[in-house]
Amino acid sequence: MSEGTAAKQDSKLEGSGEQGSSGSGKKGMPLYTKILLGMAVGVVLGLLIGPNSSLLPKTGAALSSKAVVYQTSSTEADKLQTLAMGVKEASIVEEIPAEGEKPGLLKVEWKLTPAMLLKQKAKKVKGAEEAEAGSVISGWVKDQPEQVQRYAPLGRGLIDWTEWIGRLFLALIKMVVVPLVFFSLVVGVASLGDFRKLGRLGGRTIGFFTGTTVVALVFGVGLANIIQPGHLLSAEDRALLLSSYEEGAGGAVANAADAPSFVDQLISIVPTNPIGALAKGEMLQVIFFALMLGIALTFLKDGRSKLVVDLFDRLNEAMVMLVHIAMKLAPFGVAALLFKVVGSTGISVLFALAVYGVVVLLGLGLHMVITYGLVVKFGAKLPFLGFIGAIKEAMLVAFSTSSSSATLPVTKECCESNLKVSPEVSSFVLPLGATVNMDGTALYQGVAAIFIAQIYGMDLTLADQATIVGSATLASVGAAGVPGAGMITLALVLTAIGVPTEGLALVLGVDRLLDMFRTATNVVGDSTATAFMARLEGEKIGIVTDAEDMSNPELGFEGRLDGGPHSVDPD
Ligand code: ASP
Repeated sequence: MSEGTAAKQDSKLEGSGEQGSSGSGKKGMPLYTKILLGMAVGVVLGLLIGPNSSLLPKTGAALSSKAVVYQTSSTEADKLQTLAMGVKEASIVEEIPAEGEKPGLLKVEWKLTPAMLLKQKAKKVKGAEEAEAGSVISGWVKDQPEQVQRYAPLGRGLIDWTEWIGRLFLALIKMVVVPLVFFSLVVGVASLGDFRKLGRLGGRTIGFFTGTTVVALVFGVGLANIIQPGHLLSAEDRALLLSSYEEGAGGAVANAADAPSFVDQLISIVPTNPIGALAKGEMLQVIFFALMLGIALTFLKDGRSKLVVDLFDRLNEAMVMLVHIAMKLAPFGVAALLFKVVGSTGISVLFALAVYGVVVLLGLGLHMVITYGLVVKFGAKLPFLGFIGAIKEAMLVAFSTSSSSATLPVTKECCESNLKVSPEVSSFVLPLGATVNMDGTALYQGVAAIFIAQIYGMDLTLADQATIVGSATLASVGAAGVPGAGMITLALVLTAIGVPTEGLALVLGVDRLLDMFRTATNVVGDSTATAFMARLEGEKIGIVTDAEDMSNPELGFEGRLDGGPHSVDPD
């Protein structure tokens, strides 16, 4: 596999001389700088004008499911309570400030929507039968975070208006994922010709994925035992976390209950309908079918596979161009995505979960620097900082989107264009990694499981800790590369050690934020595996510097679209 690849790489490099001189000098800011700027803008706007900003008037109220709403401000006998169920968009119309021990009171008003009313009628809520959809209801609620979360309606409105930009960017890169994986993998396998190599690559890759995941868990479980974040949470914070996030966690638990068993998952890798698998984006099935099709093509005699392989190869090149086109929108997309995440995260929750969050981040940092650092340096034989520089676009996109699947096209482009890994290796290792190799997720699940157990006052034996390592390895394999997936399969880990799954509510508040870091770790893990596997296959990998990238449109992210569109017929 390495010969053809090396030839391809060499021809790329040769071409760089001429294009280099003409292409350099006129380039503006590199793409990753623009993405970083976009991220900074998103974070700053989220803090300044997001729904939780202290600069904007917080006249909106989201009532928690346990909120008690009174008809008047003076008596507690006339509760409206249940008609307030599920009200997330009420307006604060009057306010009585707190006095000493007595909490403040807020008069909130909301429109009873038909959907809300239906739900309330179904639950036989008192007063629901007489109530009319569209009518405006008002009542008083204690101004306490476990009863009501205040927000700035303007900030919420701004997020609603700008959200489409992030979603459009995500949709554009996600659009490329399935065809890119499919075409590149078929071409990769078909041009291998030697299945011993494929078997060896597969075996090593899976071994490496499993090994690093277990190491990540050892870091997570070890740190959680040493720092014991659960014992540092106050009783008040615990009540706050449980009350404000119960509903969300309930959903997560219900989803986890639907998750198929490990054996079922293994069998379902073989698609009974490959077109259906492609259409639904079932990644493991797509990988399996592409591998089998690639193998089958190599059995065709007299060069009869050439037509298909060439066609798929061109389609694959076109997909790469699509990635570059989508990445033009990246700076704006990440700004919108971060604006939403930062703007919607409650500050009170951040404080309550600070120690837990720090343990997760510390674990991710250690795993990144120690485990990946050592593998990159001694396994892939590359300088670690240079390696991180080469995959920075993928890290930034992973961080902003919290989805290693959506980031896959960018990761692949980084590994091939910036690290000179052959498409044969990257098209096998990366899609598999984006689907099953989630070290960041596993590490976070280890910390979260111990944190929750500590809050529930449970003593975990050594056997329990081993169960966490085993079940979180499987749970991270089962987690899809999409935002929040690790949180859903965390329920499986909790069940394995007998911790109530409602405990998920305790960590839900910072999940989206931590997801950004663990997804970036997942993507670095996949890229590390790819570079290491390429080196083991004897490939000449190396780091493309920013200067090389800027001067040669064939390398890196800069200038790929500079030549403009070309006609189909070169004459
Ligand atoms: N968002 C993660 C990923 O895509 C999965 C998770 O931990 O939730 O890699």
